[in-house]
Amino acid sequence: MVVVENLVKTRIVYLGLGSNIEQPRLQIKKAIKALENLDNITVISNAGYFESKPMGPEDQPDFVNTVVKLETVLTASELLTQCQLIEQQQGRVKKRHWGERCIDLDILLYGCRQIKTASLCIPHSGLCQRDFVYKPLLKLNAEIEIPGKGLLRNIIKNNDTVTSGYACQFTGCIL
Ligand code: ADP
Ligand code: MG
Repeated sequence: MVVVENLVKTRIVYLGLGSNIEQPRLQIKKAIKALENLDNITVISNAGYFESKPMGPEDQPDFVNTVVKLETVLTASELLTQCQLIEQQQGRVKKRHWGERCIDLDILLYGCRQIKTASLCIPHSGLCQRDFVYKPLLKLNAEIEIPGKGLLRNIIKNNDTVTSGYACQFTGCIL
């Protein structure tokens, strides 16, 4: 009998979600629901709502962020396409760099892969510097490793460029 091996690889992925206009909490909930509705994605958990001061222009509302842990057979580039589709479905319009947005979905980690292409940088640049990214991520997994860099909690401890300047705080569970 010939055994056909299943070559499709399942990866654990962490996505960073953010919103600061048009009912940010609702936008985050909608995006998680949209991820849950996709056939090739299983959402495992989320870190809850984290609120912070905006990065970039200060004349915009505070941000609501979360990190979602999921399992997927999609490639990183297929996953980026799905994330961008969800952004479009929720009506994201690019206004200005680091400006206001109804929803943003970024791939923070894709298994233990390091990817650098024209359209993708994984691990996400800024992951180890921005408190609104590393705080929810560490809440989901205190032992998380950043490929090529080691334990996130050690990087945070030892890194001078880490910022808590956004005053990121947990503000509740996503119900
Ligand atoms: P930002 O998230 O920096 O505010 P955008 O959401 O508008 O900006 O994304 C700009 C581009 O960033 C996307 O077109 C995408 O190709 C690129 N990009 C690079 N790495 C990633 C990543 N890890 N996750 C999501 N987008 C990424
Ligand atoms: Mg983005």
